[in-house]
Amino acid sequence: MFENLSDKLDRAFKVLKGQGTITEINVAETMKEIRKALLDADVNYKTAKAFTDDVRQKAIGQNVLTAISPGQLLTKVMNDELTELMGGTTSEISFSGNPTIILIAGLNGAGKTTFTGKLANYLKTQKNKKPLLVADDIYRPAAIEQLQVLGKQIDVPVYADPESKDPIAIALAGIALAKQNGNNVVIIDTAGRLSVDEAMMREIEQVKGAVKPHEILFVVDSMTGQDAVNTAKVFNDRLDFTGVVLTKLDGDTRGGAALSIKSVVNKPIKFIGTGEKMEALDVFHPDRMASRILG
Ligand code: GDP
Repeated sequence: MFENLSDKLDRAFKVLKGQGTITEINVAETMKEIRKALLDADVNYKTAKAFTDDVRQKAIGQNVLTAISPGQLLTKVMNDELTELMGGTTSEISFSGNPTIILIAGLNGAGKTTFTGKLANYLKTQKNKKPLLVADDIYRPAAIEQLQVLGKQIDVPVYADPESKDPIAIALAGIALAKQNGNNVVIIDTAGRLSVDEAMMREIEQVKGAVKPHEILFVVDSMTGQDAVNTAKVFNDRLDFTGVVLTKLDGDTRGGAALSIKSVVNKPIKFIGTGEKMEALDVFHPDRMASRILG
Protein backbone atom coordinates (compact mmCIF):
# COMPACT_ATOMS: atom_id res chain seq x y z
CA MET A 1 0.00 0.00 0.00
CA PHE A 2 1.17 3.52 -0.88
CA GLU A 3 4.37 2.23 -2.54
CA ASN A 4 4.37 4.90 -5.23
CA LEU A 5 3.81 7.77 -2.83
CA SER A 6 6.50 6.53 -0.44
CA ASP A 7 8.99 6.28 -3.30
CA LYS A 8 8.20 9.73 -4.61
CA LEU A 9 8.38 11.38 -1.20
CA ASP A 10 11.70 9.68 -0.62
CA ARG A 11 13.00 11.17 -3.86
CA ALA A 12 11.67 14.61 -2.93
CA PHE A 13 13.51 14.43 0.40
CA LYS A 14 16.80 13.62 -1.32
CA VAL A 15 16.93 17.21 -2.63
CA LEU A 16 17.14 18.41 0.95
CA LYS A 17 19.21 15.61 2.40
CA GLY A 18 22.31 16.79 0.58
CA GLN A 19 21.93 20.34 1.89
CA GLY A 20 23.45 21.73 5.07
CA THR A 21 20.56 24.01 6.00
CA ILE A 22 16.97 24.63 5.11
CA THR A 23 16.58 27.76 3.03
CA GLU A 24 13.52 29.29 1.41
CA ILE A 25 14.86 28.14 -1.94
CA ASN A 26 15.61 24.49 -1.28
CA VAL A 27 12.42 24.09 0.74
CA ALA A 28 10.36 25.58 -2.07
CA GLU A 29 11.88 23.07 -4.49
CA THR A 30 11.23 20.15 -2.16
CA MET A 31 7.67 21.28 -1.53
CA LYS A 32 7.04 21.37 -5.26
CA GLU A 33 8.18 17.76 -5.50
CA ILE A 34 6.09 16.75 -2.49
CA ARG A 35 3.00 18.45 -3.90
CA LYS A 36 3.54 16.64 -7.18
CA ALA A 37 3.89 13.33 -5.36
CA LEU A 38 0.63 13.98 -3.48
CA LEU A 39 -1.25 14.94 -6.64
CA ASP A 40 0.08 11.82 -8.39
CA ALA A 41 -1.26 9.83 -5.44
CA ASP A 42 -4.69 11.33 -6.25
CA VAL A 43 -4.76 13.61 -3.23
CA ASN A 44 -7.31 16.41 -3.51
CA TYR A 45 -5.64 19.57 -4.93
CA LYS A 46 -6.66 21.91 -2.11
CA THR A 47 -5.51 19.40 0.49
CA ALA A 48 -2.13 19.00 -1.22
CA LYS A 49 -1.61 22.75 -1.43
CA ALA A 50 -2.64 23.47 2.16
CA PHE A 51 -0.47 20.58 3.33
CA THR A 52 2.72 21.68 1.57
CA ASP A 53 2.22 25.32 2.59
CA ASP A 54 1.95 24.17 6.18
CA VAL A 55 4.97 21.88 6.03
CA ARG A 56 7.04 24.61 4.39
CA GLN A 57 6.20 27.13 7.08
CA LYS A 58 6.86 24.72 9.92
CA ALA A 59 10.13 23.47 8.41
CA ILE A 60 11.45 27.01 8.01
CA GLY A 61 10.14 28.05 11.41
CA GLN A 62 11.73 25.14 13.25
CA ASN A 63 14.97 25.28 11.32
CA VAL A 64 16.50 27.99 13.48
CA LEU A 65 15.48 26.23 16.67
CA THR A 66 17.03 22.82 16.11
CA ALA A 67 20.42 21.42 15.35
CA ILE A 68 19.20 18.36 13.41
CA SER A 69 19.83 18.02 9.70
CA PRO A 70 17.36 19.40 7.14
CA GLY A 71 16.44 15.86 6.05
CA GLN A 72 15.66 14.76 9.61
CA LEU A 73 13.78 17.95 10.35
CA LEU A 74 11.65 17.62 7.25
CA THR A 75 10.91 13.97 8.01
CA LYS A 76 9.73 14.94 11.48
CA VAL A 77 7.59 17.83 10.25
CA MET A 78 6.12 15.67 7.48
CA ASN A 79 5.37 12.88 9.93
CA ASP A 80 3.57 15.25 12.30
CA GLU A 81 1.64 16.94 9.51
CA LEU A 82 0.62 13.68 7.78
CA THR A 83 -0.62 12.38 11.13
CA GLU A 84 -2.62 15.56 11.63
CA LEU A 85 -3.95 15.44 8.07
CA MET A 86 -5.36 11.96 8.69
CA GLY A 87 -7.07 12.99 11.92
CA GLY A 88 -4.30 13.19 14.52
CA THR A 89 -5.52 10.62 16.99
CA THR A 90 -7.26 7.26 16.76
CA SER A 91 -11.03 7.43 16.88
CA GLU A 92 -12.87 4.27 17.84
CA ILE A 93 -16.53 3.33 18.08
CA SER A 94 -18.27 5.12 20.91
CA PHE A 95 -20.53 2.79 22.83
CA SER A 96 -23.56 4.64 24.04
CA GLY A 97 -27.08 3.33 24.36
CA ASN A 98 -28.08 -0.23 24.98
CA PRO A 99 -28.00 -1.56 22.38
CA THR A 100 -25.47 0.68 20.59
CA ILE A 101 -26.91 1.13 17.12
CA ILE A 102 -24.50 1.36 14.20
CA LEU A 103 -25.74 2.20 10.71
CA ILE A 104 -23.56 1.19 7.74
CA ALA A 105 -23.84 3.29 4.58
CA GLY A 106 -22.12 3.45 1.20
CA LEU A 107 -22.33 2.58 -2.48
CA ASN A 108 -22.74 -0.96 -3.81
CA GLY A 109 -19.49 -2.85 -3.95
CA ALA A 110 -17.76 -0.54 -1.47
CA GLY A 111 -17.48 -3.41 0.98
CA LYS A 112 -20.40 -2.66 3.33
CA THR A 113 -21.56 -6.20 3.92
CA THR A 114 -18.02 -7.51 4.32
CA PHE A 115 -17.28 -4.71 6.79
CA THR A 116 -20.50 -5.38 8.72
CA GLY A 117 -19.25 -8.94 9.28
CA LYS A 118 -15.72 -7.80 10.10
CA LEU A 119 -16.95 -5.21 12.60
CA ALA A 120 -19.18 -7.73 14.36
CA ASN A 121 -16.27 -10.16 14.54
CA TYR A 122 -13.99 -7.43 15.92
CA LEU A 123 -16.51 -6.28 18.53
CA LYS A 124 -17.17 -9.84 19.61
CA THR A 125 -13.58 -11.03 19.83
CA GLN A 126 -11.77 -7.82 20.86
CA LYS A 127 -14.38 -5.82 22.75
CA ASN A 128 -16.37 -8.54 24.38
CA LYS A 129 -19.64 -7.34 22.82
CA LYS A 130 -22.70 -9.35 21.79
CA PRO A 131 -23.60 -7.98 18.36
CA LEU A 132 -26.63 -8.69 16.21
CA LEU A 133 -26.63 -7.92 12.47
CA VAL A 134 -29.58 -6.60 10.50
CA ALA A 135 -29.84 -7.26 6.75
CA ASP A 136 -31.56 -4.07 5.63
CA ASP A 137 -30.96 -4.25 1.88
CA ILE A 138 -34.44 -4.84 0.48
CA TYR A 139 -33.32 -4.79 -3.15
CA ARG A 140 -30.76 -7.55 -3.35
CA PRO A 141 -31.68 -10.96 -1.92
CA ALA A 142 -28.04 -11.92 -2.49
CA ALA A 143 -26.96 -9.27 0.02
CA ILE A 144 -29.21 -10.83 2.68
CA GLU A 145 -27.77 -14.25 1.98
CA GLN A 146 -24.22 -12.89 2.01
CA LEU A 147 -24.76 -11.43 5.48
CA GLN A 148 -26.32 -14.64 6.73
CA VAL A 149 -23.31 -16.63 5.50
CA LEU A 150 -20.93 -14.21 7.24
CA GLY A 151 -23.03 -14.33 10.44
CA LYS A 152 -22.77 -18.09 10.50
CA GLN A 153 -19.04 -17.95 9.86
CA ILE A 154 -18.38 -15.65 12.83
CA ASP A 155 -21.20 -17.07 14.93
CA VAL A 156 -23.19 -13.84 15.24
CA PRO A 157 -27.00 -13.72 14.83
CA VAL A 158 -28.47 -12.05 11.74
CA TYR A 159 -31.97 -10.62 11.58
CA ALA A 160 -33.55 -10.61 8.11
CA ASP A 161 -37.06 -10.46 6.69
CA PRO A 162 -36.80 -11.29 2.97
CA GLU A 163 -40.57 -10.80 2.55
CA SER A 164 -40.55 -7.20 3.76
CA LYS A 165 -40.00 -4.19 1.53
CA ASP A 166 -39.89 -1.74 4.43
CA PRO A 167 -36.31 -1.00 5.59
CA ILE A 168 -37.51 0.99 8.61
CA ALA A 169 -39.73 -1.84 9.85
CA ILE A 170 -36.89 -4.35 9.34
CA ALA A 171 -34.40 -2.21 11.24
CA LEU A 172 -36.81 -1.61 14.13
CA ALA A 173 -37.69 -5.30 14.33
CA GLY A 174 -33.98 -6.14 14.42
CA ILE A 175 -33.41 -3.71 17.29
CA ALA A 176 -36.41 -5.13 19.19
CA LEU A 177 -35.02 -8.65 18.77
CA ALA A 178 -31.60 -7.50 20.02
CA LYS A 179 -33.20 -6.04 23.16
CA GLN A 180 -35.11 -9.25 23.72
CA ASN A 181 -32.01 -11.43 23.31
CA GLY A 182 -29.58 -9.20 25.20
CA ASN A 183 -27.47 -8.17 22.20
CA ASN A 184 -25.73 -4.93 23.14
CA VAL A 185 -24.70 -3.81 19.64
CA VAL A 186 -26.89 -3.75 16.51
CA ILE A 187 -25.16 -3.27 13.16
CA ILE A 188 -27.51 -2.40 10.31
CA ASP A 189 -26.25 -3.16 6.79
CA THR A 190 -28.20 -0.85 4.46
CA ALA A 191 -28.83 -0.95 0.73
CA GLY A 192 -26.33 0.65 -1.63
CA ARG A 193 -26.59 1.80 -5.21
CA LEU A 194 -24.16 1.92 -8.07
CA SER A 195 -24.01 5.68 -7.73
CA VAL A 196 -25.48 8.30 -5.46
CA ASP A 197 -29.19 8.76 -6.16
CA GLU A 198 -31.94 10.71 -4.51
CA ALA A 199 -34.25 7.80 -3.66
CA MET A 200 -31.45 5.94 -1.92
CA MET A 201 -30.42 9.00 0.06
CA ARG A 202 -33.98 9.63 1.16
CA GLU A 203 -34.42 6.01 2.20
CA ILE A 204 -31.31 5.94 4.37
CA GLU A 205 -32.16 9.33 5.87
CA GLN A 206 -35.52 7.87 6.89
CA VAL A 207 -33.89 4.79 8.41
CA LYS A 208 -31.55 7.10 10.31
CA GLY A 209 -34.51 9.17 11.57
CA ALA A 210 -36.34 6.05 12.77
CA VAL A 211 -33.53 4.10 14.44
CA LYS A 212 -31.52 7.08 15.79
CA PRO A 213 -28.12 5.41 15.42
CA HIS A 214 -25.24 6.19 17.78
CA GLU A 215 -22.76 5.70 14.94
CA ILE A 216 -23.13 6.04 11.19
CA LEU A 217 -20.16 4.58 9.40
CA PHE A 218 -19.62 5.48 5.77
CA VAL A 219 -17.87 2.66 3.90
CA VAL A 220 -15.85 3.54 0.81
CA ASP A 221 -13.49 1.78 -1.56
CA SER A 222 -10.10 3.49 -1.17
CA MET A 223 -9.06 2.38 -4.66
CA THR A 224 -11.54 4.86 -6.16
CA GLY A 225 -9.35 7.79 -5.02
CA GLN A 226 -10.95 11.19 -5.66
CA ASP A 227 -14.32 9.58 -6.35
CA ALA A 228 -14.22 8.18 -2.84
CA VAL A 229 -13.72 11.67 -1.47
CA ASN A 230 -16.54 13.14 -3.59
CA THR A 231 -18.95 10.37 -2.57
CA ALA A 232 -17.99 10.90 1.07
CA LYS A 233 -18.91 14.56 0.73
CA VAL A 234 -22.36 13.79 -0.69
CA PHE A 235 -23.11 11.18 2.01
CA ASN A 236 -21.86 13.44 4.77
CA ASP A 237 -23.97 16.38 3.60
CA ARG A 238 -27.06 14.18 3.81
CA LEU A 239 -26.31 11.87 6.73
CA ASP A 240 -23.78 13.71 8.87
CA PHE A 241 -22.00 10.39 9.47
CA THR A 242 -19.73 9.81 12.46
CA GLY A 243 -16.83 8.03 10.79
CA VAL A 244 -15.30 6.63 7.63
CA VAL A 245 -14.27 3.06 6.82
CA LEU A 246 -11.72 2.79 4.03
CA THR A 247 -11.84 -0.63 2.42
CA LYS A 248 -9.47 -2.41 0.04
CA LEU A 249 -6.42 -0.58 1.31
CA ASP A 250 -4.54 -3.78 0.48
CA GLY A 251 -5.04 -2.95 -3.19
CA ASP A 252 -4.59 0.82 -2.96
CA THR A 253 -1.08 1.75 -3.97
CA ARG A 254 -1.77 5.48 -4.25
CA GLY A 255 -3.35 6.49 -0.97
CA GLY A 256 -5.14 9.65 -2.11
CA ALA A 257 -8.44 8.85 -0.40
CA ALA A 258 -6.78 8.05 2.93
CA LEU A 259 -4.94 11.36 2.81
CA SER A 260 -7.74 13.65 1.62
CA ILE A 261 -10.94 12.36 3.17
CA LYS A 262 -10.51 13.73 6.71
CA SER A 263 -9.69 17.24 5.53
CA VAL A 264 -12.61 17.30 3.07
CA VAL A 265 -15.43 15.95 5.28
CA ASN A 266 -13.86 16.59 8.69
CA LYS A 267 -14.86 13.16 10.00
CA PRO A 268 -12.36 10.61 11.29
CA ILE A 269 -11.35 7.44 9.48
CA LYS A 270 -12.20 4.79 12.08
CA PHE A 271 -11.34 1.51 10.39
CA ILE A 272 -9.45 0.20 7.38
CA GLY A 273 -10.16 -2.98 5.46
CA THR A 274 -7.07 -4.82 4.29
CA GLY A 275 -8.45 -7.97 2.69
CA GLU A 276 -11.52 -10.13 2.10
CA LYS A 277 -11.23 -12.28 5.23
CA MET A 278 -13.18 -11.49 8.39
CA GLU A 279 -9.94 -10.78 10.28
CA ALA A 280 -8.70 -8.26 7.68
CA LEU A 281 -9.82 -5.19 9.62
CA ASP A 282 -7.67 -2.67 11.48
CA VAL A 283 -8.50 0.25 13.72
CA PHE A 284 -7.09 3.28 11.90
CA HIS A 285 -4.03 4.86 13.52
CA PRO A 286 -3.08 8.12 11.76
CA ASP A 287 0.46 8.12 13.23
CA ARG A 288 1.19 4.55 12.13
CA MET A 289 -0.12 5.30 8.66
CA ALA A 290 2.06 8.42 8.43
CA SER A 291 5.18 6.42 9.38
CA ARG A 292 4.24 3.82 6.82
CA ILE A 293 3.88 6.40 4.06
CA LEU A 294 7.23 7.94 4.93
CA GLY A 295 8.82 4.48 4.91
P1 GDP B 1 -21.20 -4.07 -0.59
O1 GDP B 1 -21.93 -4.13 -1.91
O2 GDP B 1 -20.84 -2.65 -0.26
O3 GDP B 1 -21.90 -4.76 0.51
O4 GDP B 1 -19.79 -4.78 -0.85
P2 GDP B 1 -19.28 -6.26 -0.42
O5 GDP B 1 -19.10 -6.34 1.03
O6 GDP B 1 -20.14 -7.27 -1.08
O7 GDP B 1 -17.81 -6.25 -1.07
C1 GDP B 1 -17.58 -6.15 -2.47
C2 GDP B 1 -16.31 -6.93 -2.82
O8 GDP B 1 -15.18 -6.33 -2.22
C3 GDP B 1 -16.35 -8.37 -2.29
O9 GDP B 1 -15.78 -9.21 -3.27
C4 GDP B 1 -15.47 -8.32 -1.05
O10 GDP B 1 -14.84 -9.55 -0.78
C5 GDP B 1 -14.45 -7.27 -1.45
N1 GDP B 1 -13.86 -6.57 -0.29
C6 GDP B 1 -14.50 -5.94 0.72
N2 GDP B 1 -13.61 -5.37 1.58
C7 GDP B 1 -12.36 -5.64 1.08
C8 GDP B 1 -11.02 -5.31 1.49
O11 GDP B 1 -10.76 -4.63 2.50
N3 GDP B 1 -10.00 -5.76 0.69
C9 GDP B 1 -10.24 -6.49 -0.45
N4 GDP B 1 -9.19 -6.88 -1.17
N5 GDP B 1 -11.48 -6.81 -0.86
C10 GDP B 1 -12.53 -6.41 -0.12
